[in-house]
Amino acid sequence: MKRILIVGGGTGGTILANNLARRLRRELDGGQVAITMLSASARHMYQPGLLYVAFGKIAAADLYRDQESILDPAVRFHVDPAETFDLDHNEVKGKSGTVYGYDYLAICTGSRPVLAQVPGLTEAAHHVYTEEAALKTCEALRTFTGGRIAIVTGVPHKCPMVPLELTFMMYDYFKDRDLLDKVSFTYTYPIGRIHSLENVAKWAAPEFDRMGVRYETLFNAKEVDVAQKRVHSEEGTSIDFDLLISVPPHKGMEAVEQNKLGAGGFIPTNRTTLAMEGRQNVFVLGDTTNLPISKAGSTAHYEAEVLGENLARLATGGGAMRPYEGKVFCFIEAGRDRATYASFDYKNPPKPRPPTRAIHWFKLAYNELYWNSVRGLL
Ligand SMILES: Cc1cc2nc3c(=O)[nH]c(=O)nc-3n(C[C@H](O)[C@H](O)[C@H](O)COP(=O)(O)OP(=O)(O)OC[C@H]3O[C@@H](n4cnc5c(N)ncnc54)[C@H](O)[C@@H]3O)c2cc1C
Repeated sequence: MKRILIVGGGTGGTILANNLARRLRRELDGGQVAITMLSASARHMYQPGLLYVAFGKIAAADLYRDQESILDPAVRFHVDPAETFDLDHNEVKGKSGTVYGYDYLAICTGSRPVLAQVPGLTEAAHHVYTEEAALKTCEALRTFTGGRIAIVTGVPHKCPMVPLELTFMMYDYFKDRDLLDKVSFTYTYPIGRIHSLENVAKWAAPEFDRMGVRYETLFNAKEVDVAQKRVHSEEGTSIDFDLLISVPPHKGMEAVEQNKLGAGGFIPTNRTTLAMEGRQNVFVLGDTTNLPISKAGSTAHYEAEVLGENLARLATGGGAMRPYEGKVFCFIEAGRDRATYASFDYKNPPKPRPPTRAIHWFKLAYNELYWNSVRGLL
């Protein structure tokens, strides 16, 4: 029997498990293949919804489903976070002490915000990367009556569009509350333009100019003076704020770091096969890779589809492998009930089109369609 072990039951892991279950139905029924998933939680969160929680547009409770309810019943699911990876012996040990053997392993444990990387950020900044933080941000925005808002972005971070989306959405939020004349926005970005994707930066800069959002590039937060409400950059500049909104730097998960699978918890991954460097039967997808592409649900989704096809072939005797070509698709909330999107891959950069209301409504619809998407129905 070929044993496929998936560690991580988020976007990438769930799509991979359901994809494999569909492709390997006969082998699963006949006992030639087993698919096992370990995850850290019995619940699955639709993380992009946290952005809307911060603006009071979605209730946090609506972002969750039971993980088992979105998994093919043939997948053996255990809430048992992986603690030890013994890749030389094809074994993973869970927190419960159970050892799970495998023939093929997929690691997709995601990433986490690490505010502590910037002294003072934890105390001073709001963000949207956990349910608790998004709710606090919602309260901070609701009670803010005017002053200087600074948006500070660390790298790497989940979802490349969040810094822009937060800015557009805050602008609308304070416009709706008739407070725009009392609020100023300073958007900062770590590199020499306002977004990592050049065409997205070119599209967004005139939008910011229209809105009167000031931007400062080459700004990497070094520390926050909490008492003075001032954030200092590695480059020697500083910005004063009354409300600090952060897109915090991320790391991979603790278990990946502690097992020394990759610096910062990001595993060295082959960009087309998605194999862990130096391993033939270990694959990595989603935020956990060290690939220099967006840490996004769509990245995990497209990678999972490619990996599903390839792992199903491997488990049933081999054949030609399909390469992952770096495909990513991200919606961008652009304010005024409009949105656009960036679609790109290793060879083709994105070319965002003018935002429309139709795309905004499609993004809102996708917030619900996600649950069909992870089941493999879209
Ligand atoms: C505010 C916000 C907005 C976003 N907006 C977008 C967007 O518009 N578009 C987009 O494409 N993406 C967006 N994203 C990013 C997207 O949610 C992530 O990139 C995506 O979920 C990554 O998928 P993943 O499978 O790699 O990790 P995750 O979905 O994070 O799943 C990781 C899983 O691993 C489990 N796990 C953790 N540690 C262990 C362990 N030791 N053992 C076993 N399991 C473990 C976790 O419980 C979880 O189930 C957004 C994210 C946020 C927070």
